Amino acid sequence: MKIGIDIDNVIANTFQDLVPHFNQFVGQKMEPIQVIQFMRRRKLKMLGYYLNAWKNRIMTTVTLIDGAAETIRQWYQAHNIKLITSRMPLFNQQTRYWLKKHNIPFHELHHAKEMNKYKKADGCQIFIEDNIEESEILADHCERILLLDHPWNRRKPCKSNIIRVKNWQEIKLALDTPLCC
Ligand SMILES: [Mg+2]
Repeated sequence: MKIGIDIDNVIANTFQDLVPHFNQFVGQKMEPIQVIQFMRRRKLKMLGYYLNAWKNRIMTTVTLIDGAAETIRQWYQAHNIKLITSRMPLFNQQTRYWLKKHNIPFHELHHAKEMNKYKKADGCQIFIEDNIEESEILADHCERILLLDHPWNRRKPCKSNIIRVKNWQEIKLALDTPLCC
């Protein structure tokens, strides 16, 4: 089976860990949901932030989401693991370093712009994602989308093959459950 997996907020606790660094950079105190809105509206400022994060190797310090690494290690022998992230390609080496540091195996690693992951995800039976808008696009290209629950994705998805999951135990369980049931 081909399994597509997003990195930020699916494998890595990116928002939780980066919000203090981000707030320091912008000189404001924002909650994760406000950071997401800011990211979408202030592209130029975000470019400055990403360069700062890259220089300080911030992405190499983020923590793991519980259960992600162990589950991917188990899947790796039997399935094709495609990591598809909307991180800028600038972060490729730091992302690879971080994946190696946490012993997360994968067959492919792709960088795709937000809302364009479907171009790399075609043929994935399952895709694990935290961005609801991205999930709704991916839902037309993958059999099932597992939407990892976060405060920023709580509205009802508009596609029936998007399944909300609370954690990696539920993700593991969903992989073993046929789509028709
Ligand atoms: Mg994400």
